[in-house]
Amino acid sequence: MIERLVLASGNAGKLREFRRLLAPLGIDVAAQSELGIAEADEPHVTFIENALAKARHASRQSGLPALADDSGVCVDALGGAPGVQSARYAGEPRSDARNNEKLVAALAGETNRRAHYTCVLVLVRHADDPEPLVAHGRWHGRIIDIPRGSGGFGYDPHFEADGTGMTGAELPLERKNVLSHRGRAMQDLLAQLAEIRERGGAR
Ligand code: IMP
Repeated sequence: MIERLVLASGNAGKLREFRRLLAPLGIDVAAQSELGIAEADEPHVTFIENALAKARHASRQSGLPALADDSGVCVDALGGAPGVQSARYAGEPRSDARNNEKLVAALAGETNRRAHYTCVLVLVRHADDPEPLVAHGRWHGRIIDIPRGSGGFGYDPHFEADGTGMTGAELPLERKNVLSHRGRAMQDLLAQLAEIRERGGAR
């Protein structure tokens, strides 16, 4: 049974969130930066491949089980772009403001505003695990031209979430965490871990 794993991310907010979720299962989470592990490259064109590459890298470097996530926003009218390029859509250095500007410009005159955030989580027991656990979460909505709200991050001021009338930047954080792609993927992962443990499995 997993008692300790490494999180393949340097994001302090994600670390806090994963620690809180996995503590009830008796799983302690270490950040890869605490173990002196550099971030892996993300050269792939799908979220799942990038998450798997990050998890494998962290596990190989640490000798521990590893958890990785990859996420982004996919816009229907743009064939799924920015997708895995979400963080660096407008190039380096990364800038939320320039990314949002580029997205709004790309949708000028477009009536189809459908979009969703997506998040993939991958948990490997070891670097060559033939059976990683894979969890998915999606959060549907539409892209708006005029930003609203001051919370969240990234594309949130331009993402109006279905069924709320609010953008990701207007929703209180606790509500966003329940509805969001990341929140849903985490619930999926927890359900899979709970089910394996109920059967007396090895995770
Ligand atoms: P990462 O998977 O945390 O590296 O996120 C990739 C990129 O997707 C971020 O830099 C944001 O541009 C975008 N993104 C992912 N999740 C969210 C979210 O919840 N709100 C806004 N933008 C997000």
